Amino acid sequence: MGLDEDALEYHEREPPGKLEIATTKPTNTQRDLSLAYSPGVAAPCREIDADPEKAYRYTAKGNLVGVVSNGSAVLGLGDIGAQASKPVMEGKGVLFKRFADIDVFDIELDQNDVDAFVESVAAMEPTFGGVNLEDIKAPECFEIEQGLRERMDVPVFHDDQHGTAIISGAGLINALDVVGKDIGDVDITISGAGASAIASAKFYVSLGASKENITMCDSTGVLTEERARNGDLNEYKAEFARDVPESSLADAMTDADVFIGLSAPDIVSPEMVRSMADDPIIFAMANPDPEIGYEAAKNARDDTVIMGTGRSDHPNQVNNVLGFPFIFRGALDVRATGINEEMKVACAKALAELAREDVPDQVVKAYGDQPLQFGPEYIIPKPVDPRVLFEVAPAVAEAAIDSGVARKDIDLEAYRERLEA
Ligand code: NAP
Ligand code: MG
Repeated sequence: MGLDEDALEYHEREPPGKLEIATTKPTNTQRDLSLAYSPGVAAPCREIDADPEKAYRYTAKGNLVGVVSNGSAVLGLGDIGAQASKPVMEGKGVLFKRFADIDVFDIELDQNDVDAFVESVAAMEPTFGGVNLEDIKAPECFEIEQGLRERMDVPVFHDDQHGTAIISGAGLINALDVVGKDIGDVDITISGAGASAIASAKFYVSLGASKENITMCDSTGVLTEERARNGDLNEYKAEFARDVPESSLADAMTDADVFIGLSAPDIVSPEMVRSMADDPIIFAMANPDPEIGYEAAKNARDDTVIMGTGRSDHPNQVNNVLGFPFIFRGALDVRATGINEEMKVACAKALAELAREDVPDQVVKAYGDQPLQFGPEYIIPKPVDPRVLFEVAPAVAEAAIDSGVARKDIDLEAYRERLEA
């Protein structure tokens, strides 16, 4: 059977879907039920009424994330709407549970108006310990996230933006280390100026890249100040407009040290790869087909080409599952009021450091016994590596504490040991 048939059968098998609710307390006796529900349940209600923070003590809020979408930019499928996006949101729930034991309610909102969307999600704050926004199109996604971050006291994180930024950022730190270049000096050309590209560009600046060295292209070409003046760029693109003549992606790639592709398939040629600086870094992340294929990029030249894609069938997969489960784990466990830049940087650095360590046998086996050793073909940890949980979540928690957004102080060493157990 092909992948599509397998996937339909997988989802259809009884019970339909991939998730269900499970109870965590005894429910056998009349007494149990009168504790779980009326009349006993009134006691925790009164406690929370007197002190809302006690919701974390007496309800599942603290381990519950809302995965919220309007279905306006789903995978490579585009605007398929809220209902059709539900398998993806349920799937995100599966990953949260599998990788970080976080529970999820998937919320598909039939709402494309920014203010109404913000209003609806903000009103759900009592339910959730955090909100993962998912598959919402640009530029609305920027406004929605900003609006919700201002309104809500729990972490709000648009994974398509920041997850991509963090994982590719971790890969970038290591790729630059392998080729011996400094992030502050390199010229970075980005193809794409949408949700993931804008967030990634901003994040690389947080990691030390110089904004003046970033050239961004959309489907028309390089983002220039001239285009900004002509009203051709939205405010998020305009932030990366450069004072250069109008030019193409091919021009922008000439002499670039780093190419970041978050745009469209097959738009980069081997010639364009050859025009780049020595030992180029190429993260071609358009899904499912990258801006240039893995082999084509590697074979384009004789020096070191560090190549990453969004695909699992090549080395250096930039996979968001390396980020969101562990970022939320760390953020929830210190009851952070948000996910700030310091936490995202800590996550990227922890992932980068982990890739430099020896890889456990079980992980090597899971990847068909190919050697996994830090270098051009292994700059990012593998998602099934169990160390990611106990290396990354504590790093995020620590950054939350140090940057003053944690509402709960924890013993980080004990926390790490608990996650490792
Ligand atoms: P998006 O918000 O729709 O942005 C897409 C951007 O690509 C737009 O700025 C668009 O230009 C630009 N673009 C389209 N065709 C182009 C071309 N021929 N040349 C240059 N730029 C072009 O989408 P997104 O969510 O950021 O995702 C972009 C791509 O990255 C998708 O393929 C997605 O699957 C992939 N992605 C991969 C990962 C990963 O591997 N971990 C994570 C996130 C996203 P206009 O603004 O002019 O329309
Ligand atoms: Mg997504």
